Amino acid sequence: MKATSTATRTRSIPMVKKNPADYETIEAEEEPPGTRTISPETERLPAQFSSIGSAYGLTKQVPESLWRDWKWHFRNRVTSVDYLGKFIPLSPEEQSNVKLVTSRYPMSITPYYLSLINPFNPDDPVKKQAVPSVLEITMSSMGMEDPLAEKEDSVVPGLVHRYPDRALMVLTDICPMFCRHCTRKREWRHGGWMRTDSEIGAMLDYLRRHKGIRDVIISGGDPLTLSTKRLETIISRVRAIKHVEIIRIGTRFPVVLPQRIDDELCSMLSKYSPIWLNTHFNHPQEITPEAAEACDRLLRSGVPVNNQSVLLRGVNDNVETMLKLCQGLLKIKVRPYYLFQCDEVQGTEHLRTPVETGIKIIEGMRGHTSGLAIPTFVVDLVNGGGKVPLQPNYLLAQTEDHLLLRNYGGNTYLYRNPHLQIDDISTAACGGDVIQELLLDSRLKGRN
Ligand code: SF4
Repeated sequence: MKATSTATRTRSIPMVKKNPADYETIEAEEEPPGTRTISPETERLPAQFSSIGSAYGLTKQVPESLWRDWKWHFRNRVTSVDYLGKFIPLSPEEQSNVKLVTSRYPMSITPYYLSLINPFNPDDPVKKQAVPSVLEITMSSMGMEDPLAEKEDSVVPGLVHRYPDRALMVLTDICPMFCRHCTRKREWRHGGWMRTDSEIGAMLDYLRRHKGIRDVIISGGDPLTLSTKRLETIISRVRAIKHVEIIRIGTRFPVVLPQRIDDELCSMLSKYSPIWLNTHFNHPQEITPEAAEACDRLLRSGVPVNNQSVLLRGVNDNVETMLKLCQGLLKIKVRPYYLFQCDEVQGTEHLRTPVETGIKIIEGMRGHTSGLAIPTFVVDLVNGGGKVPLQPNYLLAQTEDHLLLRNYGGNTYLYRNPHLQIDDISTAACGGDVIQELLLDSRLKGRN
């Protein structure tokens, strides 16, 4: 495992006290470790968590043992504007705007994720994902509460069964960080719930009865807010269902609180293979040594990690940033899987881009980097229509015999369309001589 580097420590949040014991505030075991979303953090955070700019520029350090403790970060999430103002310069107008927004769409930022923000950059890409914008309210007439119609497709509370072979288990609405572009923003108001044992039991019964389900996605909120013990209880019961072939976990912890991916969690996950994990890096600034270490730990435990970015205005809506992000992901052995068009969700319109932007980004990447670094750009259709991949158009014209194609550099090429049709193949299957003739005929035509 990689040790936490000095470079990262210089972005961490400084405090005055040096002795870890000084920070052990409310330590009674709680699962998850602190579910409040709007709280007087001053109860829990040391006083020096308080000077503007300290989150980035730093003078003093959080003790290593606490910085590596995900529960400490979780308990110390920044959820109020007054507290946020101590780390990020906010004008009185901005403060009242943030206050207004959080009354409808709460805020929650882990100290780790806060440490990635440059508080002096008003356009910081991490800040845009974490700090509320007044546009969430002023543009909220646009979009829908539940554009993907997840409520309608719920077969029992918390279980979405839309596709024949896949089902989605939503275990909680709690997340360590509230992403301003979240598709399930509607859930934030409900104050933090976790599925009860009887609800989990009903989901498992449904999964057992539907033998066509071979792929179960465990999501939220963020399912890794559950304790490892509780997660194991659920995962082991899903794994015991014979027709479930794979389990997928959707989580943003590797990005917003990578300390959660600890040995205990990884060792538990390794027992229930095959488990895949999909995470959500949006900007190269999020690829830190801690994040790399978390992904490495998962991979060494036999859990492949894929990334699902969301295309966001002012965050990653250009070729240069996406190239840097995807190439950076490959360096930490994470596969860039999807680039999502930001869903049509109320309170996210200011972060949405025209669909053409995504297509242009893919076009700008194709040919300029390995295909492995290029995600599939998809639009998730409203009303549960599913995902549609969108690509630049490389096919300029087509006849029965030829295609006119353009490559990444804009050059055009005539490409012969092979004539061997499925009927020809069936006929050819009757005798080797026939197929030889057809192949010869096809090759001869190709030379003309
Ligand atoms: S982690 Fe996922 S579910 Fe949670 S706020 Fe972010 S996008 Fe929404």
